[in-house]
Amino acid sequence: MKNIYGYTLKELEDYFFKNNDKKFKATQVYEWLYKKRVNDFNDMKNIKKEVIQKLEADFSCNKLDIINKLEDVDVYKYLFKLDDNNKIEAVLMKHDYGNSLCVSTQVGCNIGCTFCESGRLKKVRNLESYEMVLQILQIEADLNIRISHVVLMGIGEPFDNYDSVINFIEIINDSKGIDIGARHITISTSGIVPKIEKFMLEGKQVNLAISLHASNDSLRDKLMPINKVYNLKQLIGIVKKYINLTNRRVTFEYIMLKGINDSESLALELSLLLKGINCYVNLIPYNETSHIEYKKSSNDDVMKFYDILKKNKINVTVRREFGTKVMAACGQLRSNYEEAE
Ligand code: SAH
Ligand code: SF4
Repeated sequence: MKNIYGYTLKELEDYFFKNNDKKFKATQVYEWLYKKRVNDFNDMKNIKKEVIQKLEADFSCNKLDIINKLEDVDVYKYLFKLDDNNKIEAVLMKHDYGNSLCVSTQVGCNIGCTFCESGRLKKVRNLESYEMVLQILQIEADLNIRISHVVLMGIGEPFDNYDSVINFIEIINDSKGIDIGARHITISTSGIVPKIEKFMLEGKQVNLAISLHASNDSLRDKLMPINKVYNLKQLIGIVKKYINLTNRRVTFEYIMLKGINDSESLALELSLLLKGINCYVNLIPYNETSHIEYKKSSNDDVMKFYDILKKNKINVTVRREFGTKVMAACGQLRSNYEEAE
């Protein structure tokens, strides 16, 4: 049975239409689910008994299991168990501009970046849209808050689960549903070039972040094996096209790894690579993990790197560090769990 939280409004309208019923019922159901946050068809008061029975026969509205929750200053990390016992995580961060949730899109990840905990455990499967939607709804309910921003930066490569991710965005963006503005949603990708191209043509106002982490091919090859498939020339090429077509600014993420990608000469190389591109660079303090040898760059080196980019007129920010105590790097909590079992 399909889970109702995986349906776009349009798909629910089609469902009612196919069942010789009025399309507006879809809007009513949506409002019960997402505005009033009802989790039982029987509580949908303005819907007729026969319709409720049919909905119950056709859809489930089961939630995920929250099996662990860790807290640190302004950060909450959740571990969910899925119906098939797989585990995923989501991280809620409180900022002055609102609450942002980092959502997982797959169980594990096949891209295999050498610094990343999620990539250490291979992909088991893609998440369904409802499993992404429920990360939002259940954390909102648990903390009694509203989430204003969603970033697809948890476990998984969103563009390796393209259709479910686009469907998920449609669901949470719908003004009759959760209503998170497209400009408050960010997809982060390791750089799957054909999918960036496809995404560019969707016409969505969603933000795009590219995990760059290196300014030349030989270094990027070592950190991110995807670079051997789509190299920097191809990646930067498609990003330029994306910016031209959408008129939107792109973010480049750059994890600062001690002695690996944080030298002054690499800062200069990065400045040249990104010269003239309408972008932001986000320097990310590395979250060290017990299984991987990379170390985080010193604050001094981060600031030197930052200054060189600034001097070369690249827009740059240093990401605030969240929850090193709660293992906030994507995949860390799950991976510790899988190993303990
Ligand atoms: N697969 C996508 C999205 C998930 S990873 C991608 O790679 O973009 C989200 C971000 O977290 C990426 O920029 C990734 O490089 C970064 N990341 C992974 N492990 C990290 C760690 N240990 N510390 C800090 N950032 C990390
Ligand atoms: Fe996958 Fe992203 Fe981790 Fe790379 S950084 S292994 S793409 S989740």
